[in-house]
Amino acid sequence: MAPQVVPPSSDFDWSKLAFDLYPTAGHVKYVWKPETGWGEQQFVESPYLNVHISAVGIQYGASCFEGLKAFRQEDGQVKLFRPDENSARLNHSAAALSMPEVPKDIFLEACHTVVARNLQFVPPHAPYGGAGSCYVRPTLIATGAELGLVPGNEFTFFVYVTPLGSLYGSAGGKAPAVDAVVVHEFDRAAPMGTGTIKAGGNYAPVLKYQAQAKKQGYAITLHLDSKTRSQIDEFSTSNFIAIKKRASDDEKPTLVYPKSESILKSVTAKSLMDIARSLGWNVDHRPIPFQEVIDGGLEEVMACGTAAAITPIRSITYLKEDGEQAKVSIGDGQNAGPRTLELLQNLTGIQAGNKEGPAGWLWPAEGVDAAKA
Ligand SMILES: *Cc1c(COP(=O)(O)O)cnc(C)c1O
Repeated sequence: MAPQVVPPSSDFDWSKLAFDLYPTAGHVKYVWKPETGWGEQQFVESPYLNVHISAVGIQYGASCFEGLKAFRQEDGQVKLFRPDENSARLNHSAAALSMPEVPKDIFLEACHTVVARNLQFVPPHAPYGGAGSCYVRPTLIATGAELGLVPGNEFTFFVYVTPLGSLYGSAGGKAPAVDAVVVHEFDRAAPMGTGTIKAGGNYAPVLKYQAQAKKQGYAITLHLDSKTRSQIDEFSTSNFIAIKKRASDDEKPTLVYPKSESILKSVTAKSLMDIARSLGWNVDHRPIPFQEVIDGGLEEVMACGTAAAITPIRSITYLKEDGEQAKVSIGDGQNAGPRTLELLQNLTGIQAGNKEGPAGWLWPAEGVDAAKA
């Protein structure tokens, strides 16, 4: 039997839902100790965490996170998008940061409970997710107190949610394109470094460059590889995807995605590659020289990640070797290209349940169940 539907709260002004944090019913938490491993699930109403000032996570940066979304389907049920992928990536981050794995069943149970206890904060259904979604933020942090440089003897895994507005409205066929700028003064991640993990420490150094770029009118910052500074890595918080320029109109589209040792493997990018293949396009996973952008070899460029799904890019500004600034216009230099919109429509359509996607992408199959939380 399908779970009983818990509708969106009527006290919430869903038309004003923004990209922000909202108060919720609470979060779930688990604590790991050496003697017992992961303990029982706790549901905590307060959004505060009481942590020792010498916690390894605070002092030495043993902290990583995930981001995924739950979507309200047409029948009122709520389903998460590919949480098993986030579980695997959290464990990749945990291993890299000297923290214990969170078993997949605990990860899924945590995501299920926190969404189930906050179903009233999952926005109404709209085709292509136009009404927004429920953002889910799993976090793993070393909470054991130590003075010396050791992994510590206590870890905390918690998952919280917030309702999140859609950046695109209900259209699904429209998306605002933004201007991007290359960060030349700072390397986000080195080869064999921490670029493939979602570690808190990867983001703090980028914040000021992002803020600076925003002031200058660039919505998003792009990083090149730190070894040669000639290949495209990714944007500060999202992956880079492009559509290759075609020789003729009847050639089928080719999606290109950078191959690099230092980028975060985006679940959205992986999903878009699968969607592109299902549409009969070519998918080219290879290093992308920045020169290809300069030479106009890429017809469409987009940033992709859970938070915004797809952000179309209409220009990339960079510094030439002589230090002069140059701007490359992408597509018509104004609006999202047709392939970008096709990908966006397919992805958001699958997430909202209006388009059939591959089996298992929406979980649980029957919907999140408040009676099982
Ligand atoms: C989270 C993140 C992404 C996007 O990953 P998704 O799984 O698609 O949300 C891309 N790049 C960086 C650096 C990220 O932190």
